[in-house]
Amino acid sequence: MVFNPHDILHLQQLVSTAERIVLVCHVSPDGDAMGSTLGLMHLLEAMGKRPAVITPDVPTSTLDFLPGSEKVIHASRQTQKAKVHFDAADLVICLDFNVPDRIDRIAEMMLGSAAPKVLIDHHLHPDSFAQLTFSYPDSSSTCYLLYSLICAAGWRGFLNGDSATCLYTGMMTDTGNFSYNSNCPGLYTAIADLLSLGIDKDRIYTLGINTMSLDSLRLNAYAVSEKMQVFSSHRCAVISLDAGELKRFNYQKGDTEGLVNKPLSVPEIIYSVFVREDENQIKFSLRSKGEFPVNKICKDHLGGGGHLNAAGGELHCSLDQALRLLYDILPQYDKYLPDNE
Ligand code: 5GP
Ligand code: MN
Repeated sequence: MVFNPHDILHLQQLVSTAERIVLVCHVSPDGDAMGSTLGLMHLLEAMGKRPAVITPDVPTSTLDFLPGSEKVIHASRQTQKAKVHFDAADLVICLDFNVPDRIDRIAEMMLGSAAPKVLIDHHLHPDSFAQLTFSYPDSSSTCYLLYSLICAAGWRGFLNGDSATCLYTGMMTDTGNFSYNSNCPGLYTAIADLLSLGIDKDRIYTLGINTMSLDSLRLNAYAVSEKMQVFSSHRCAVISLDAGELKRFNYQKGDTEGLVNKPLSVPEIIYSVFVREDENQIKFSLRSKGEFPVNKICKDHLGGGGHLNAAGGELHCSLDQALRLLYDILPQYDKYLPDNE
């Protein structure tokens, strides 16, 4: 990864003159969001700084294995504490999101903080709210981008087993355990280096990706077996789960992580939509293959956005209304389907 030397110098200056550094990531944090914030937290601690990780809400408990996760401040439960940290910060580093909307209730606190801000992210089209922005949409994860920045800034010597575990987790989860978006040779050089710091990648895979409750296993099987609709002419699969179904399987946050990818293993299916009835909203999760732009669907109609092959959105309406809207708009996107193979 190539960086502008002025930006690296700017980053070094900002970090060297700061002591209290707030690290923040997007709502419903995933492995990359938690991996990058906690990875940077450990690095900054090793540099003698006083970092604090603040998340808008509580991450799924499947990420509790990440070293340092017990120190994370969840703004949804500890609003006042989060505000005290933002007010006292002399640097704020935003990781794994592109627009303040993605940090939900803490956007105001973040933007209101007098501290300079740095954005380190791999989503398309970042807003310009930070003094210094490292936006690399070609990077498969924020963790890989962050690792590359750490090396470019000359901070490699401050990495240790804990930071390496966190960084590896984001590289792994954002590529589906290196099954997509993962052909970059540099990624494997980075992983070789993280392995040299003593990470146990097999354990991280088991804990980070391949662990689920019995309820969750049953819910996912039910969703695929009973709730998946295939729209052959649109080469699309839609899975929806209503609040009653989620309750029946004792749904916990994170239980349907990865479900949206399942239909893509069928060669005829080009894109997949998962629709979930959450407490206050309808949550959409979309995935696709090749050049099919699910982020366009999310941006055009589903109140969201994201990457070409992985995007999401939220609507405030009933599940029925959301599904009807979805079925109505599917034909508009036929033009992006690949020619018949
Ligand atoms: P997921 O399906 O895992 O929730 O999200 C996949 C990707 O879609 C995220 O990395 C993010 O880029 C994008 N995304 C998901 N939900 C939203 C949303 O509500 N708004 C926006 N702008 N992007 C979203
Ligand atoms: Mn990410």
